[in-house]
Amino acid sequence: MEPINEGIRVAVVGVGLVGSTFAYTLMLSGIASELVLIDISRDKAEGDAMDLNHSQAFAKPMRIWAGNYADTASADVIVIAAGANQKPGETRIDLAHKNTGIFRSIIGEIMKHNPKGIILVATNPVDILTYVTIKISGLPSNRVLGSGTIIDTARFRYLLGRCANVDARSVHAYIIGEHGDSEIPVWSLVSVGGMHIEEFAQLSGCPYVAQRDQIFADVRDAAYHIIEKKGATYYAIAAGLQRIVEAILRDEHSVMSVSTLLNDFHGISGICLGVPCVISRSGIDRVIELPLNHTELAGLRNSAEVLRGIISGIGL
Ligand code: NAD
Repeated sequence: MEPINEGIRVAVVGVGLVGSTFAYTLMLSGIASELVLIDISRDKAEGDAMDLNHSQAFAKPMRIWAGNYADTASADVIVIAAGANQKPGETRIDLAHKNTGIFRSIIGEIMKHNPKGIILVATNPVDILTYVTIKISGLPSNRVLGSGTIIDTARFRYLLGRCANVDARSVHAYIIGEHGDSEIPVWSLVSVGGMHIEEFAQLSGCPYVAQRDQIFADVRDAAYHIIEKKGATYYAIAAGLQRIVEAILRDEHSVMSVSTLLNDFHGISGICLGVPCVISRSGIDRVIELPLNHTELAGLRNSAEVLRGIISGIGL
C-alpha cells in the first residue's frame, strides 16, 4: 500500500530477526506514522508488513508496507539490520568483508534516493559497518550512527541493578569501545542513586566487590550465551534501536553509548567506537568525553587498535 500523507517515516533495511523485532517495537511505540520494510527477500518484507498491519487494531494507526529503496526518499531515519551473522569458524574480518559487500549496494541505493536522512546501523561488526557507511555515503558523521555498545551498556546496567537491588534505570554506567570482545566497562564512573557504586555498596551491603568481575564477564559474553541457547539475539537490540530512533525523532538530547566516528576522543580519531553521545534530531549532537582512568584509557586504545586492524583488513 502506498502512503497517502507525508508523516514521520522510518525505513528498515533487512527485516530478519533484528529488523522485524525492531519494526514491531516501533509499531507498538506509536512514535512514527510510516514504516517501510525493505529486504532482499520480498516475501519476508511482505509477510512482516501483513503481520504487523494485523496488530494495528491493538496499537496506534501507522502505514506499514513492504517497499523498495525509492520509499526511503522521505525517511527521517533508516535502520539497517541487513546482512549475515557470524558463522562457526568464520572470523570477524570474514564477516566484515561479507557485510561490507552487502552495504556497498544498500548504501548506494539509499544515497540515490535520500541524501538527507539519518542512518542507524545495527549489522555486525557494527563499529566497522558504521565506519563503512560513513565512507560510502559521504554523509556528515553526525548523521550516521551505529547501535555500538548501547546493548552492552543495557546489560551492564541490568546486572548492576540486580546486584544493587535497584531498577536498571537507576544505575548510571557505560560500556565503551568495540561492540565485542575488546569492550571496556567504565567502573570508575558507575553510580547508583547519585553515589559511586562502591560507596553505595558499603552503605547498602550489596555484593558489588565480589560480583564485579563476573558482572563484566556476563556482559561481554552475553551474546555468545544467548546464541548458544536460542541461536540469535534480537529483543534487547530491538529495544535499544527503538530508544535511539525515539531520541532522534523526539529531539530528546538523551545520552546513549552508540558507535560514532571519533575525532580526538582521548587522542583517538578516524574510527567508529561506542562512546556516550547526546542524541538529538540531528543524530549525534555531540560526543561526551568521559574522564577515564589509566586502565580504562588503555582498554579503549586497545579496542581502537583491534578495529583499525579489521578496517585495514577490509581495505576500504
Ligand atoms: P537475519 O539473518 O535474521 O536477518 C538478516 C536479514 O537481512 C534477512 O532478512 C536477509 O534477507 C536480509 N538481507 C540480506 N542481504 C540483504 C540485502 N542485500 N538487502 C536487504 N536485505 C538483505 O539476521 P539477524 O539476526 O536479524 O541479524 C542481522 C544483523 O544484526 C547481523 O549482522 C547480526 O550480527 C546483527 N546484530 C547486531 C546486534 C547489535 O548489538 N548491533 C545484535 C544482534 C544482531
